Formats: sequence, C-alpha cells, structure tokens
Amino acid sequence: MRKKVEFVSDKYVYFFGSGETEGGADMRNLLGGKGANVAEMTRIGIPVPPGFTITTEVCTYFMQHDGSYPDSLANDVRESIARLEKTIGRRFGDVDDPLLVSVRSGARASMPGMMDTVLNLGLNDETVKGLVARTGNPRFAFDSYRRFIQMYSDVVMGVSTEHFEEKLAAARNRAGVNEDRRLDAGQLETLIDEYKAVVRDHAGKDFPQDAGEQLWGAIAAVFRSWNSPRAVSYRAMHGYPDEWGTAVNVQTMVFGNMGDDCATGVAFTRDPSTGEKHFFGEYLVNAQGEDVVAGIRTPLPVNGTPGSLESVMPGVYAELVDVYQRLESHYRDMQDLEFTVQNGHLWLLQTRTGKRTGRAAVRIAVEMVDEDIIDEKTAVMRVEPTQLEQLLHPMIDPSVQADAIARGLPASPGAASGKISFSVERAVKMGRSGEDVILARTETSPEDIDGMNVACAILTSRGGMTSHAAVVARGMGKCCVAGCTAMEIDAAAGTARVGDAVLNEGDEITVEGTTGKVFIGRLPTVDPELDDDFHRFMGWADEYRSLGVRTNADTPHDARVARRFGAEGIGLCRTEHMFFGEDRIDVVRRMIIADSRAERLAALEEILPMQRGDFEGVFRAMDGLPVTIRLLDPPLHEFLPNDLSDIEALAGRLEVDPARLKAKIRSLAEFNPMLGHRGCRLGITYPEIYEIQVRAVIEAACSVAKDGAVVRPEIMVPLVGSRTELALMRRIILDEAARVLKRLDTSLDFMVGTMIEVPRAAITADEVAAEADFFSFGTNDLTQMTYGFSRDDSGRFIEAYLEQGLLPGDPFESIDRAGVGALVHMACQKGRATNPDLHLGICGEHGGDPASVRFCHEIGLDYVSCSPYRVPVARLAAAQSALG
Ligand code: ADP
Ligand code: MG
Ligand code: MG
Repeated sequence: MRKKVEFVSDKYVYFFGSGETEGGADMRNLLGGKGANVAEMTRIGIPVPPGFTITTEVCTYFMQHDGSYPDSLANDVRESIARLEKTIGRRFGDVDDPLLVSVRSGARASMPGMMDTVLNLGLNDETVKGLVARTGNPRFAFDSYRRFIQMYSDVVMGVSTEHFEEKLAAARNRAGVNEDRRLDAGQLETLIDEYKAVVRDHAGKDFPQDAGEQLWGAIAAVFRSWNSPRAVSYRAMHGYPDEWGTAVNVQTMVFGNMGDDCATGVAFTRDPSTGEKHFFGEYLVNAQGEDVVAGIRTPLPVNGTPGSLESVMPGVYAELVDVYQRLESHYRDMQDLEFTVQNGHLWLLQTRTGKRTGRAAVRIAVEMVDEDIIDEKTAVMRVEPTQLEQLLHPMIDPSVQADAIARGLPASPGAASGKISFSVERAVKMGRSGEDVILARTETSPEDIDGMNVACAILTSRGGMTSHAAVVARGMGKCCVAGCTAMEIDAAAGTARVGDAVLNEGDEITVEGTTGKVFIGRLPTVDPELDDDFHRFMGWADEYRSLGVRTNADTPHDARVARRFGAEGIGLCRTEHMFFGEDRIDVVRRMIIADSRAERLAALEEILPMQRGDFEGVFRAMDGLPVTIRLLDPPLHEFLPNDLSDIEALAGRLEVDPARLKAKIRSLAEFNPMLGHRGCRLGITYPEIYEIQVRAVIEAACSVAKDGAVVRPEIMVPLVGSRTELALMRRIILDEAARVLKRLDTSLDFMVGTMIEVPRAAITADEVAAEADFFSFGTNDLTQMTYGFSRDDSGRFIEAYLEQGLLPGDPFESIDRAGVGALVHMACQKGRATNPDLHLGICGEHGGDPASVRFCHEIGLDYVSCSPYRVPVARLAAAQSALG
C-alpha cells in the first residue's frame, strides 16, 4: 500500500546564490546537510557557486511512487535553471558558452562517499567545443568531458567504471605517460570516442547529448542512490532511518583543473585526529573533485611545508584562513571544508561538522569552553559517549623495542594486532570467525565498508589524512594507518611487499595509528594515560548526571581499573570466576561431586579462606564504595571436565574411582542448563554452598573494616522467580551473617537483594521486593527469557531478523524498550510500591550502551553497572540523558 507523503514544505526547490538564498543551516531535514550549509554559507557572504536544492521530501515521494515526481517539480526545476542562467550569465546546453553543473547528493547526516555525485553535467559533443572556445584550454575541456562521460555512465547508466579505466590506461600507455593529466587534447578526444563506444556496448544506447535529459537522469540516480546497498548498509550501521531520504543539489561547476592557478582540497578547522587548534588540510594543484579523497595522487598539506597552498598561492590561502575562522565561529564547532580554486579565485563547496576521534572530540570541547565559544553543557553534548572508549584504548608498550617495517600516516589513533587480510571478503570471514583482522588495501572505497567494520585496524598504501580510509576509520574509532607507501599490495595474489619482506594473507602484524607505524608480529600493548582534558570533561559530565555508574568486576585489578575510570562501586562481582583459579578448581570439583553434606562441607571449608581472600582484595580496592556480590550462579556442570582424558586425570588427582566420577558427571548433565539447576536453585538444594560464600563475604568485610576501610557489601541472589525463593535465601544469608558477626563480636551494615532476570520476578516484583533491599536487573538473562532467544546461539538467526527489519537492533546490545524494558519499568514501580527504599540498578551488558543508559535514566534507576572500559561511556551517556 502506498503511504501518503506528508509534505512539510510547500516548496520542492530552494535556490541559493547572489544574495537571494532561500535555505539555511536550520533546514537540514528538508535540504540535507550539504544543501542547508551551502545555503547558510551563501547567506553569510562566503563565496559558494550558486545552485538549487531539491528537497528530501521529493526523494521520499520518488521512493513511494515508483520513481515519479510531484506534478510541479519539472516546472520548478526549469524555473530554477532559468534563474541560475540569469545569475551566472550562461545558458544550460548552450553550444557557445554552456552552463555546467554538478548534481550532488546530501542527506541530513553526512554519509561520506556513500551516495553519488556527477560533475561537469551539461557537456556534450557540441557544448564541449563551446567550453574550448571560452577557456581557450582544449585539454581541460576534453578532460572534463571524458570525466563526465565516465561518471555519468557509472552513476546513471550502470556502466562500470572499470571499462573506462581500461581505456584510460591504454591511452596512457599509447602516449607513454604515467598520469592522466599528461594526456594532451588530441589524445583525450580519441579517448572520448572510445568512451562513447564503451557506453554503446554496455548500456545498449548512446551517451545522452541533451543537457535536460542528462540533468533528469542524474537527479533520479541521486535519489535512487539512497537505496544503494552501500548506503543502506551505512545507515544500518549508524542507525539512520530509511525514511530520511536525500536531497539533490544542482550547483554551478567551478573548476580546479583548468591549470596551475587552480586547485582543489579539503580542510579541517582543527586537527581531527588530536583536536589541536591548528588549521589542517590537504590539496592538489590542477585537480578536480574526488582526486584528493580518492588517493590517486598523494595530496600536499595546505600549510607549513614547501609546496603547500600557503606557499604556492599565499593570497588564496589568506582568504581561506579568513573563511575557516568565520565558519568556525559561525557554527561554533570544528568544520570540515571542501574548496576549489579556479584561476586564483576561492570557492567553498561544502562545510559540515567535522568527524573527529574521541581524543580530538574531548580536546576540542574543552578548549572551546576555554575560548568562550561554547558552555560546559554544550561541551558535554558534543562528544559521542562511545567515542570515549578510544581514549582508554591501548597503545604499544613503550618499553618494547621493535623496529617498524614501514611507516604511513597516523590517520586514526590506537594500536592493534591481528592477521592481515587484503580482501574485504576474506576479512569479513576471518572477523566473523572471531579472529582479529587488519584490513590492508591499496586504498579503500565505500564498497569496503563491511570489511572495515569487522577489522580491528585499517591499513592503506595510498591516500592522505583525509582519504576515505582515514575518515571512515576515525568515525568508527578504529586504528588506521593510511598512505603507507612503502607497502606494495597485490590483493589478487594475497601478498604485500615491504622492501625485502613479503607479507602473506593471514600473517600477524601490529599497526599503531597514533604514529603511523607498522610492525611484523604481535606486540604487547599498554593502557594509556588519561590527560587533564579528559578529567575536566568528565567532571562536567558528572555534574549533570543523576544516574550512578558502577562497574562489573570480579577481581581487584578490574576494580582498580574501573575506579580510575570513575566507577562508583561494583554492581556485579561474579563469584564463579573466582572458582576457576588453578589453585582451587579441583577443590571446587571435590565439592561438586561430593556424595554427602559432610563431604561437601569439608571441601567448602577449604574453599572458604581462598574466597575470603578474593573478597578482601575487592573490598580494599573499592574502599568506601558499595560492592554487590552475587552468590554462585552457573550450573555446576560447567566446572567439570568433558574430555575423557581430563576426567581420568582429575580422578587421579582427587583419588576417586574414574568410573564413579564419570557417572557423577553424567548425572549432572542437563538438556537445558541455562534453565536448569543453577542460580538460587543451587542455594536451595545445597544451602551450605551459599552459607560458605556468605561467611567469606562477612568475614572479609569485617577484616578489611578492621584495617580502617569502609566496606559496603551487598549480597545478591541470582535467578529468583518468586518471593518464596528469595525469602528462604534471605533467611539463610541473614542467619549465617548473624553467626559470623556474633562469633567476631562485631557489627556490619550490609544489604541483601536479588537479581531480576526471570520474567516472573519482574511480574511479581511487588511480592519479591518484600524480601529485598535492592534489585539489580540482569538484562542479559531477562532478554533471553523474555524473547526466548538463547544468549549463546542467537547469532545464528539474529542477523536474519536484522536484515529483514524484524528487530531494530540486537536486543542483547541495546535494551528492547517495548518488551524487556517494559518488564524492567514495571518491576521498578511494583518494587518501589512495596519498598520505597528499594535500591535499583542494572548489571547486564546494557549498562554500557548509551541508548540503554538513557532508558535507565528515564525510568529512574539509581545506577547502571558496566564493564570497566565502558564506565566513562556510561557516565557521559547518563549526563547527556539528564541534559535532554
Ligand atoms: P560527497 O558527499 O561524496 O562529498 P560531493 O557532493 O561533496 O560528494 O562531491 C564530491 C566532490 O565533487 C566535492 O568535494 C567537490 O570537490 C566536487 N564538486 C561537487 N560539486 C562541485 C562544483 N559545483 N564545482 C566543482 N567541484 C564540485
Ligand atoms: Mg563532499
Ligand atoms: Mg544471569
């Protein structure tokens, strides 16, 4: 069924240029980011080639009406072209002096290189002669025409650009030159004839000569590119809705490829990698459009070195500096600019909020507060919570002496080791099977997105700091080394040559995006130092948040790491991990296979001092802060060996009959262990296990408190489904604690509570709360049991759900608000109705996911708990939730 398009605007087309600009920066939903910003730049007097924008609403209409347009659009476009002709003083399709345009896509959020752009539109066999006559530069005119044929045929007519590249390479060979720009006018004319033949062969028709037909072809192609596989995949990755649509910008061409007083480039108003306040960019003399980004020629810096724009065209550079300063103070944020110089005149083609690394985002936010450009609240909203993780990520251990085999550009910081892969397909395979993979390509293109997504680092042999690989990796927060020219990659053969060394597909390497270095083999990494900017920034975040942030940590080491990252306690300390220690696993096993309570108690007595030691360490690390300790949760079977030889060896060590051991292990096996004999069911069948754990907790707390530390234990019962279960567990816990405290003749404040992870517990939370001082939502199990999706096997089908749009995202990553979230919300309300002092938190993986943190804030939880490296992410997400 066709949905009706609801038009917000009564206009389909917005003009920009010559002081009559109809759009502006606040219209990005309608005009797309690019369209809104070219209009805004025009409005504030920055030189922008005039043009017009067809709205995103027309795109939506186009999608919903099988590629047709609203009735008056044809007329609106015709009028806009006429207006443009009047502004420029040239006519579209005029054989003597043609107006040429670009047709550019542009959605609300920037999707670099994801959709299509056509340049030099309006050229044909006749108008190209007009361009020759006007410019007196036949080489330039024919080069523009051949580029146009190539781009248009690819984007609009579906003729793969490879066919043209072949002809181009042959033309270079014939001419004996190694660069396209060395082909002369005659050679280009011949090439154009060959190109037209390619079009005829592959598209089954001639290259369109009519400028109007060209224009409508390009407009439709841009709209269609919204649904191209790579755009769809990019949207899915970034969570952009399909309904947004793209705008189409039709803009007068300016030429950076008319000679040596022409250039094209991209620049950032501050360093996008470090955040340093320093104008930063790259450019190429005598080049057009994508040449800089495509990495075909290696671009030069805009300033600071011989050959820079600053030294080659000082006047233009001064003008560019003035423009960038105006743009940054106008937008009050770091900008990413695209510019072209035509015969010494500067033109701006694009400005947008620049993508940056996490480190740069924090530094820019802090420095802009110091420069009085933004306030602290705005600063807190400026950094993506997940970007903070990059700051916490490892670097190569500086004490390690290793020689890099090559060095490229430090395109995106961090360090990573993994197996090198030269093909996206193989990288995806390796990544899916759980291996660390480093994607190495000559240069990347938007088609490589899936490979870049699975890779832990990206390495390219060509391209600059603003190449596709660099920009995308920074956006993803992934380590990237770009333009590593010493490396010659042969993707087809699956090898790379670096000097005398040869790397094969699957060889292990280490790359360091912070320095641009590449090493053979795996190198050890260390955690980074957190700088002042980070601490100031997080201090502001803490001022605004109301939600507490704790960590999930099982060891004193993890607890200390998390504390350094700002954790305000432990929300989940799993005791089973402590059981796996090499020195104790056999005692644990002795306890599990015990046939009598006496035997079990004997083993437990041996476990007691070890467990007490663990808890003492954790309490010390968390001096002054609450620590939630969960009593034993997993099925006992998990602690026993499966392998025959392991079972026999264990029987030897425990001095028991191997046959008896085998039988015992068999008897513990369950069809459905996740729904089996685990959680509080262990405490119900073997109360002595929980008693010993409680004894260890209370004794440890008392001994650490005696040394002067402040201890705040919270004992948590897992997998409770009913009040009766928790009532029994609570009695056991309180009785054991009382015995210990009596024996030690001391007192201690502690809490007893439960995880809410069985749906029934959430539904009957009013009853359960009568026995609980706190609830901690175990949303991993709760999601598993609410959806009926196995936590361990859901990978097999979740992807199909996502691809078919049956789920908005993986419910194990981001909380399912409508289902699991509703249960959590209900449990909070029912629980608090019974016990107004009930303390509420969440300890599932969701605690470190910004969208889930927002949900927790909205329903009024007291805290979230997440893995140590996610603690700053949660703190910032909590602050942003509180700010709006
Ligand atoms: P993307 O969204 O992929 O960045 P753009 O629409 O910005 O695509 O176009 C890519 C490049 O083409 C621009 O960076 C610019 O160099 C060039 N370009 C686009 N329009 C024009 C124009 N009117 N004149 C000159 N160059 C243009
Ligand atoms: Mg662009
Ligand atoms: Mg659980």
